[in-house]
Amino acid sequence: MPMATPSRAIDSTGYIVAVEDFRDEEYPMLRGSIYLDHAGTTPYSKSLMDRFAQDMTSNLFGNPHSASASSQRSTLRIEDIRLRVLQFFSADPEDFDVVFVPNTTAGIKLVTEAMRALPGRFDYAYHQLSHTSLVGVREEARNSVCLDSDQIEGWIAGRSPFEDDSDKGSILFAYPAQSNMDGRRLPLTWAKQLRTCETAGTKNTYTLLDAAAYVCSSPLDLSCVETAPDFTVLSFYKVFGFPDLGALIVRREAEEVFASRKYFGGGTIDMAVCLKEQWHAPKSQFLHERLEDGTLPIHSIIALDAALDVHSQLFGSMADVANHTSFLARRLYDGLLSLRHGNGEPVCIIYSSDPDAKTGLGNGPVVAFNIRNSLGAWLSLAEFEKLATLKQFHIRTGGLCNPGGIASALGLEPWEMKQNFTSGFRCGTDNDIMSGKPTGVIRASLGVMSTVSDVDSFVDFVREFYRDELLLPSINPEPILHTRYDSTAFYVQAISVYPIKSCGGFQVPAGVDWEVRPEGLAWDREWCLVHRGSGQALSQKRHPQMALIRPSLDFGRGELRVTYAGHVPRHLPTEITVPLSKNPTVFQAPTTFRSMSSRVCGEEIMAQTYASSDINDFFSGVLGVPCVLARFPPGGQGKSMRHSKAHLQRHQQITTPEKLLPTIPGAFPVAAEAPPSPPDSDSEKVRGGRILLSNESPILAINTASLESLNKEIVARGGKKVSPAVFRANVVVAPSSSGKPYQEDSWSSLRIGDRHDFRMLGSCRRCHMVCINQETAQKSEEPFVTLSKTRRFDGKVFFGTHMCYSSPTVGAGDEKMLMLTKEMQYPTIRLGDSVKPT
Ligand SMILES: *Cc1c(COP(=O)(O)O)cnc(C)c1O
Repeated sequence: MPMATPSRAIDSTGYIVAVEDFRDEEYPMLRGSIYLDHAGTTPYSKSLMDRFAQDMTSNLFGNPHSASASSQRSTLRIEDIRLRVLQFFSADPEDFDVVFVPNTTAGIKLVTEAMRALPGRFDYAYHQLSHTSLVGVREEARNSVCLDSDQIEGWIAGRSPFEDDSDKGSILFAYPAQSNMDGRRLPLTWAKQLRTCETAGTKNTYTLLDAAAYVCSSPLDLSCVETAPDFTVLSFYKVFGFPDLGALIVRREAEEVFASRKYFGGGTIDMAVCLKEQWHAPKSQFLHERLEDGTLPIHSIIALDAALDVHSQLFGSMADVANHTSFLARRLYDGLLSLRHGNGEPVCIIYSSDPDAKTGLGNGPVVAFNIRNSLGAWLSLAEFEKLATLKQFHIRTGGLCNPGGIASALGLEPWEMKQNFTSGFRCGTDNDIMSGKPTGVIRASLGVMSTVSDVDSFVDFVREFYRDELLLPSINPEPILHTRYDSTAFYVQAISVYPIKSCGGFQVPAGVDWEVRPEGLAWDREWCLVHRGSGQALSQKRHPQMALIRPSLDFGRGELRVTYAGHVPRHLPTEITVPLSKNPTVFQAPTTFRSMSSRVCGEEIMAQTYASSDINDFFSGVLGVPCVLARFPPGGQGKSMRHSKAHLQRHQQITTPEKLLPTIPGAFPVAAEAPPSPPDSDSEKVRGGRILLSNESPILAINTASLESLNKEIVARGGKKVSPAVFRANVVVAPSSSGKPYQEDSWSSLRIGDRHDFRMLGSCRRCHMVCINQETAQKSEEPFVTLSKTRRFDGKVFFGTHMCYSSPTVGAGDEKMLMLTKEMQYPTIRLGDSVKPT
C-alpha cells in the first residue's frame, strides 16, 4: 500500500507538488523514490536545485557573444543543451531548430509575428479546444475560423473551411496536441495530412502544434520529419517544474516563414548600418540566431540541463511517466465516475473522455468535471475551491483559458457567455452558476509526482462532501427553521469592533455604551491596509498573520494604538498610534494624507492613505508585505461610500417544513438559485444602507447556541472546539436559558435593550477565513469542514447573521411623526442588554 501522504497534490501542470514513495506494487513503477516534506520539497526538486546550484557555484557563465572564457563556456553549453532538447523529442538537428522562448505563448507570438509579415498576410484556422494563447492569433489574421475535429477532417478530405478560397495566401493551422481543459488528445497526423492534401496543398499551409499540455506526461516523437508539425511550442516548467523557459521547435523546411519578419534585436544580426543609410544583415547560419532577440536567459537554459538529467534519473523516460500517469488517470476517472448519490444519480459530470477508450486517441491524465447534487443542481466552483483548498488539493477551476473547450463542454452559446459577462461574471468570481448552468469546470490533473493515494484521497474527498445519501425531507432529524417569534430571550454577551479591516478585534468593555450608526458599530472597519503596488485592501484570507495586529481604541488620548502579537523586527517600535480625529489634516500638514484608489472585495473605493513612514513601516515590517494604512471615514460620497450587499438567503425564506430540503450532511443546492441582485439596485433602506470597509453589511451577529451546536458536531467528528472569535462578529448574543441553535435564521428583527431595533439582512456566507485562529493566526480545517456538512444551503456555507440598525425614521405615506428622543439621536448598545427577536 502507498505510504501516508503528508500533502495531497492533484494538479501538477504547474509547479512541483507531490508526495510519497513509489514502492507500490500495484502500479507501474517509477525509478527512484520521491518524497514531499512539509516545506514542499521532494528529492526531485532538491536534487534538481542541488545540481543547478553546483553548476552555478563551480562555473562562471558570461554573457555570450564575446571571446572571454566565461562567455565561450556559456555559448558552448547553450548549444549542447539546444541539441539535448532536440534529442528529448527525437528530432534530428538536420531537420529541426530550437528557438528558446520564455514560454509557450511567446513561441506562438513569434510564429504569429512572422506570419503577419508575410506578403498578403495569412488566414488562420484553429481547433475549438485551443488555449486562449492560440485563440488570440486570430486578431492578426486576415480571416480566421474556429474548427471542430470533424471540420478539420473535412478540410483534409478537400473541403476548405475558408469562404474565399481563391487567392494564394498562406494559412496557419493551430491546435493543441492535448487540451488543457479536459485532457482530450487530438491526432498528431494532421500536420502531414494537411501538408499533402489537395485543397491545402495549393497554398502554403503551415501547422502550429501547441504541445504544452501534451509533453508534460507523454513522449513527443518528432523523428519523422514528414509527419512533424512545422512549429511546435511548449513550456519546460510544465514538464520539469523548473526552469521558467519554453521552446519553439521549427521544422527547417518551414524556416522561410520567418524571412519576412521585420524586427531585429541585439544578437540576431551580423551588421547594422544606421547613419545616412539603413541596412542590416541578419545572421544567416541558424534560424534561432535570427529569432532570439537580446540576451538569452542563460541561467535558465543551464538549469534545463540539470532538469533533463535529474528528471530522467528519477523518473526514467517520458514513456515511463506516461505509463504512470495514465494508470493514475484511469483510477481517478473510474473513481469519480463511480460516485452515485443515494438516489442513483451521478455525483460528477465528467467532460474528459475515457483515458484509454478503444476509439479515439484517449485522454491525457486530466479529469475535468462538475458536481451536481442528487436533484441535479450544480455546485458552485467557488464553493468547491474553498473546501478543496482547505483539504490541500491543488485544483484548478473555472474557464481554464480555454474558451472554445468550455463552451462546447458546457453547451454555452456565445450569447450566453456575453450575457454572463454583462451580468457581472468574470473569471474567478463567486457567482459561477448562471441561469442554471455552470460557467467553468473543475480540473484535476495528474503528473509524474502524483500518487495512488493522491487519487484515492481526492475521490474520497468528493464522496465525503458532495455525495447525498438520502434526500427525504420526512426523515430530516431536526428542521433548522423554527416558528417565528420564538419566546427565548437573549442577551448581548460580547461586542467587538475591528477598527482595521481584517486585523484583530477590540472588545467593548462592560459598562460602556457603544454607539450604533447606520454604517455599523462606531469605529468598526474604518481603516484598512492597502497593498502599495496593487491598491488592493489586504485580507486575512491571504495574510493570516493580520490577526496578530491588535488595534485598541484609547479615547482618553484620542488615539488608535496598534501592537503586533507576533515577532516585531528589531528596528520597529512595539506600538504605533494613529490619531482618531476625523480629519487630522486640519492639525497636520496636508501632505500627511493622500487620496488613493483601492479595491475592497473587488469594489473600487477612494480611501485616505497615511503618508507617515512610522505607521506604514510598522505594518509593512510586521506583515512582510509592502502596505500603507488607509482610512475610509463615514459620510463619504461617490467612491468614498459603500453599500451593504447582504440579503435574505433562500433557506431563510422557506417557512413550511415540507419545503425543508437537505439539511443533512452532504446536501447542497435544492434548485437553481435565484439570480443575484446586482449591487446597489435596491434602495438603501431595503438593503441595509451604507457600510464602511466590512465585507457585506453594517453589523454581524452570532448566536452562542448555534456555536455550541456547531462545536458539538466538530467534537463528534474528532475535531477541536472553535472560539467565537473565528467568526469575527460584532455582536455575540447568548440565550438567557438554554436555546435552540440557529434560531437567528428566522429572525426578521431584534430589539436590543429597551428601544433599539435592528433589521436582519440575511445569513452570512462563509469562506475558509473562519479557519484562522484569531489568537495564533494558525490555520486549521475547522470549523469550515463541519459547517460544509451541516450548514450548507444552495451550495453555500452560512453562519451568523447580518443586520443593521433600523433607524426610526418614518416611511413614505406614514402619517405618524415620531418625536426625536435622546436615544434615537445617539443609539447605543452595551454588554448585558436584553435581545428580543421580534
Ligand atoms: C499552459 C498552456 C499554454 C500556455 O502556456 P504558457 O507557458 O502560459 O505560455 C498553452 N497551451 C496549452 C495547451 C497549455 O496547457
